[in-house]
Amino acid sequence: MIRYALECTDCEEGFEGWFASSEGFAAQKDKGLITCPACSGTSVRKQIMAPSVRPSEKAGASDPEKVFGKLAAKARQHISENYDYVGDGFAEEARSMYYGERDNRPIWGETTGDEREALKEEGVPATPLPPAFAPKKQPDKSKLN
Ligand SMILES: [Zn+2]
Repeated sequence: MIRYALECTDCEEGFEGWFASSEGFAAQKDKGLITCPACSGTSVRKQIMAPSVRPSEKAGASDPEKVFGKLAAKARQHISENYDYVGDGFAEEARSMYYGERDNRPIWGETTGDEREALKEEGVPATPLPPAFAPKKQPDKSKLN
């Protein structure tokens, strides 16, 4: 079944019809079986659907890049509000929390490839952060005064 948006050429009423196929539509139309619900005229045609030139809000929302962008912005905000930035001390911090030397807290920071490997081998949980999810680095507070 296919759905066509139709319009009456007499009164310009727009309506919809379901047809088995495009041939089915043509056959019914030729026999005058498709009638306008407003004026019962049989002079109907398929509506021409113009593509929208300007993307609507809705179309934008389903654009994967925009969805990802919003998600990334949320992630960045969440991380910057709830996570401590520990810079390149990440591996050390993660390790001391894992071994109970420090209280657990959410942190984010940088590691070298070697540090990541070492953490993995020790079983220290650490999740790579997609670059788009990383907040802007917090200013170094020691340099502020
Ligand atoms: Zn009509």
